Amino acid sequence: MKIKKLIILIIFTWIILIVISFLWNYTNARKEQERIAFQSARSFFNHIVITRLWNARHKGMYVPVTEKTLPNPYLDVPMRDIKINDKLTLTKVNPAFMTRQISEIAMEQEGVQFNITSLKPIRPLNKPTARETQFLKEFEKGIKEKGMFIKKGVKTAYFYMAPLKTEKACLKCHAWQGYNEGDIRGAIRVTLPFIMEIPLLSLLSGHIIIGLVGLSGIVFAAKKLSYAYETIKKQAVFDALTGVPNRRNFSESVLKEYKRSQRQQQPLSIIMCDVDNFKAYNDTYGHINGDLCLKEIAQTLKTSLKRPGDFCARYGGEEFVVLLPNTPIYGAMHIAETIRLNIENLGISHESSSPKQVVTLSLGVATSEGAILASYEELVKHADIALYQAKKQGRNQVRSFSEVA
Ligand code: GH3
Ligand code: MG
Ligand code: MG
Repeated sequence: MKIKKLIILIIFTWIILIVISFLWNYTNARKEQERIAFQSARSFFNHIVITRLWNARHKGMYVPVTEKTLPNPYLDVPMRDIKINDKLTLTKVNPAFMTRQISEIAMEQEGVQFNITSLKPIRPLNKPTARETQFLKEFEKGIKEKGMFIKKGVKTAYFYMAPLKTEKACLKCHAWQGYNEGDIRGAIRVTLPFIMEIPLLSLLSGHIIIGLVGLSGIVFAAKKLSYAYETIKKQAVFDALTGVPNRRNFSESVLKEYKRSQRQQQPLSIIMCDVDNFKAYNDTYGHINGDLCLKEIAQTLKTSLKRPGDFCARYGGEEFVVLLPNTPIYGAMHIAETIRLNIENLGISHESSSPKQVVTLSLGVATSEGAILASYEELVKHADIALYQAKKQGRNQVRSFSEVA
């Protein structure tokens, strides 16, 4: 995989992780708010159930008749009202009536609303809504409680509903309706005003900061990685000493050019170059100067090539190779001679190299034109044979394979 693609993939993965983390935290915060709303509503429900039970166990409570507490028309029991004197009459308040009165206070104080509802209501106002009817039916099937957020105008409220089970104390008034102990007689609905407090801003800014810090880390590491990658890539195809392409690079290029020349029926030429008496040069001037000399030769080789397709590489040691696509033998011979002359004209002193006492090159040229070649290796071999001849015939000269074959 290309390094750029890998970096893009890492950045993309990082962004996805940040988005997932944000959504996960947001969902958890929402769930937590739901849990709090659910627990609060359930707590209200439990309180009211306990208070009702207390009332039922006392068979209803007597309270003074006032403007707000008039005798309950739905309570059909003997001694519902007891006149104490002209100023005081007591009336019985059963659990349902008490629930209604507590509900009114809760509404005034906290905005919490709760109501009794039943599929068989005694008081017509306790008739369930469509949603309540559905929940009441679910309770009869065994569902224990229901809770959800609802919209109340522009505000959000939490709606909670749980069944009212028939206690022994309830049967005194409700047995006529056909209920037995443990039967679901109805439900209490609690509506709690609730504002979701999700720390959206801090959650979002936290994730943006972490995301950006991570991204800059990735970009920083990516730059370093890409630099290291480019260096390694360069080292893999360029010769470290001379800076020209290395042998591996040559092998790839020659194969490509060879195939192209075969396809297009165009000549392909190769020049093998070898520094003359280079061992002696090293022995006389030292290895460091030998390296500098090789660098200079490589540069001269490069500048001697003019066409964009021409290519030179270090073949190994003090040997270089030149690849000349679409070049017939006479063209290649001409270039080889130019190279030889350019190197000689550098005038790098080499006292033990006779007769010129400067650094020189021997060059062998081969071309694919008119030759029956099994592979590009054969072309290289031909150039090597020509080079051998140039050495044999006195060095500092150009020979072609066609001359020696
Ligand atoms: P000939 O004219 O027959 O080619 O003789 P030569 O001395 O050039 O050939 P030989 O193969 O005997 O020696 C090649 C020398 O090239 C040996 C080695 O010390 C030198 N050489 C090869 N690679 C390097 C290099 O990277 N740096 C230096 N300084 N010398 C090198
Ligand atoms: Mg050699
Ligand atoms: Mg040599």
